[in-house]
Amino acid sequence: MTTDTVEWFESRGVELVTQDDRCIFPKAQNSQVIIDCLMSEIHALGITIKLQTHIENISPVNDSFKLSIKGKGEVTYDKVIIATGGQPKMSGLQWLADLGHKIEPPVPSLLTFNMPKNPVTELMGVVVNPASVKIPGTKLQDDGPLLVTHWGMSGPAILKLSAWGARVLEAKNYQFKILVNWLNQKNEDVIRTQVTEAIDTNGNKMIRNTNPFNLPNRLWIFLLNKYEINTELRWIELGKKGKNKIVQLLYIDEYEVSGKTTFKEEFVTCGGVSLSDVNFKTMESKVCPGMYFTGELLDIDGITGGFNFQAAWTTGFIAGKLN
Ligand SMILES: Cc1cc2nc3c(=O)[nH]c(=O)nc-3n(C[C@H](O)[C@H](O)[C@H](O)COP(=O)(O)OP(=O)(O)OC[C@H]3O[C@@H](n4cnc5c(N)ncnc54)[C@H](O)[C@@H]3O)c2cc1C
Repeated sequence: MTTDTVEWFESRGVELVTQDDRCIFPKAQNSQVIIDCLMSEIHALGITIKLQTHIENISPVNDSFKLSIKGKGEVTYDKVIIATGGQPKMSGLQWLADLGHKIEPPVPSLLTFNMPKNPVTELMGVVVNPASVKIPGTKLQDDGPLLVTHWGMSGPAILKLSAWGARVLEAKNYQFKILVNWLNQKNEDVIRTQVTEAIDTNGNKMIRNTNPFNLPNRLWIFLLNKYEINTELRWIELGKKGKNKIVQLLYIDEYEVSGKTTFKEEFVTCGGVSLSDVNFKTMESKVCPGMYFTGELLDIDGITGGFNFQAAWTTGFIAGKLN
């Protein structure tokens, strides 16, 4: 979020805290305080919200727009702001395409990775911060907190990776490998040196009784077992092969991903109304004067940390001026 947005909320009594250097959350750890703040502003400004009002169609008529409302007839306005959010399917955007807008095909973004039946899911709740994750064969790589869940992996490292790779992952039908670097150390030689130091420092100690890389203990034991390292050995007895395995489990620990967050649980949609069809000074359509666009309906999707809200609020603010 921008400083302006933070100040806006704070001046209305909402206390915010920054987590992981970027993400901003209400101090109350409850989104209701944000909703309450926005609703109170809406009331203060005398804005009417009409609930249960489904717009079935919008068609330009002369210099106006005719809105067909399900079960409630038609109304005409001279200007309309379209703020209908991300549409998971092209069909949800077809009416805008029919009006002449270029539409970037929608695909889900900010999603978590499923790893059905993978034993790692038994570690649900384990967090490593930071870890980095890459998808071999692509340039996709990201880092941040990584959370093991009962279905696979999540957390900002995974969500950000899915955002940058939304189209690539869709093309792979959400079947791919990931390599986890649990120490978020990009240089393999540095990890190798750390492992050598661990061997030198812990020489006669049993491997199972030491955790020299400060990983959550359950994860450390899991990784040792996954790579079939005999935990009854002493560090000094690891040998070259054992040392290589420890480097591997820390540096490029491989998992198969099969599937993503369930449909509609993705946080955001990549794609939408093409930015080339929008005047960003006003958010007005270049194709259909008098029609304005805001938020996730546009071909904008941000990473985690409030960037999607920021995009929705900023574009909404500009469009709301109806220049
Ligand atoms: C689970 C989840 C968690 C998220 N967490 C974050 C986060 O932490 N940070 C962040 O930045 N973003 C987050 N997002 C994304 C963020 O919520 C959206 O990007 C943002 O709300 C988009 O705002 P919008 O106004 O464009 O659309 P929306 O908030 O989707 O609002 C669109 C509205 O239009 C209405 N509508 C649609 N079609 C019609 C129609 N035909 N007639 C009448 N009404 C219609 C819908 O009912 C809806 O109320 C999250 C999203 C999800 C799903």
